[in-house]
Amino acid sequence: MRTWNDDQLALREGMERWCRDLAAPEDGAGTGFPWDAWKLIRSSGVLGLPFDPARGGAGLDLLTTMFVLEALGEGCRDGGLSFSVATTLCSTGVPLEHFGTDQQKDRYLPRLCSGELIGAHAISEPDTGSDALSMRTTAVRDGDHFVLNGSKSFVTNGPVADVVVVYARTRPEGGPLGITALLVDTDTPGFSTGRPLRKMGLHSSPMSELYFDDCRVPADRAVGGVGRGYLLLEHVMKWEILCSFIINVGEMQHRFERCRAYARTRTQFGRPIGSYQAVSHKLVDMRIRLETARRWLYDTAERLVAGQDVTMDVAIGKLLTSEANVASGLAAIQVFGGNGYMSEYGLDRDLANAVGSTLYSGTTEIQYNRISSLLGL
Ligand SMILES: Cc1cc2nc3c(=O)[nH]c(=O)nc-3n(C[C@H](O)[C@H](O)[C@H](O)COP(=O)(O)OP(=O)(O)OC[C@H]3O[C@@H](n4cnc5c(N)ncnc54)[C@H](O)[C@@H]3O)c2cc1C
Repeated sequence: MRTWNDDQLALREGMERWCRDLAAPEDGAGTGFPWDAWKLIRSSGVLGLPFDPARGGAGLDLLTTMFVLEALGEGCRDGGLSFSVATTLCSTGVPLEHFGTDQQKDRYLPRLCSGELIGAHAISEPDTGSDALSMRTTAVRDGDHFVLNGSKSFVTNGPVADVVVVYARTRPEGGPLGITALLVDTDTPGFSTGRPLRKMGLHSSPMSELYFDDCRVPADRAVGGVGRGYLLLEHVMKWEILCSFIINVGEMQHRFERCRAYARTRTQFGRPIGSYQAVSHKLVDMRIRLETARRWLYDTAERLVAGQDVTMDVAIGKLLTSEANVASGLAAIQVFGGNGYMSEYGLDRDLANAVGSTLYSGTTEIQYNRISSLLGL
């Protein structure tokens, strides 16, 4: 079992306190962004955890950041809100902190850390989802600007974002090395946002398509250099998977504790349902999956920080955690019986959110492909 020092424990307790005020269930309307809860998120400081203190961050290392984010997952019942937090932090903050120029950092990081700006990243396109590197959106150099044309799909935070890291093709035949990441302010002429998309879960995390019609972006907004978008994305996805899936672990922990309490108090045939093996073994499976995912993610983070190649570990961690999340969501509904099917218990929402985790950041099937190709198959 990993041990945490007093400072780390205090930070986690601080997050737990904030979460008590965030406990409201997410808006089921389908597209609403919880602006009041966002104010609380801003005050909590969670958006700046791993960033430079000179630019408004808390300067925490990756593992401590994850430890606090796990508390967010455990304490906050609005999974969409947590997802929007992880998206702002990883999609925009991480590439800026690790690859941005001083000028880019000065312009965006303080306001991203404070939550004044909401960030997003745009990779997927209508015809290129899993095959993201075949993206067609182009960024053509014209003097001291890039001119963006194309569209992006499924952009988390799209309807509310102030700045988007847009991955676009700067060299038509360049393969992965022809992709560049551009910081685009959403009030730039030629940029437009589609209507918020209705989706199965993560309701309070709004999503939309984005359109670029001769959208002129200053050339100095390329993050990490021209043609280096793929390398940047590889790095960002590692952070995204570790940070957003440790939130899922916190959510699984909360669900497990609810199920355990229910199994001990709900009686049928004169005994607590948890005394029946068919129920208790579901709880055991939930616990095993949860512990395995948690340890795997922290171990992977430790190896990443130590400079080791964690490509396969990240793919395994993503696959393992998302599938564990869905299995635990289904088991929870079964443990609660008919109550589990009732929306007032929130387990339907949990399950819908969990299904999303098998799709974003690379689907389960794509993680299998990655792992098998790394195995030389
Ligand atoms: C909740 C959510 C949030 C998202 N947020 C963002 C975001 O912020 N920014 C962004 O850019 N994108 C985002 N996405 C998009 C996400 O990255 C894509 O949905 C995902 O990459 C899959 O692409 P696709 O939907 O086009 O499916 P497709 O690529 O069309 O895949 C359809 C099915 O075929 C399978 N498949 C495809 N190719 C193969 C293969 N070679 N081998 C085996 N199976 C294969 C897939 O696994 C899937 O089951 C988000 C998606 C969701 C659901």
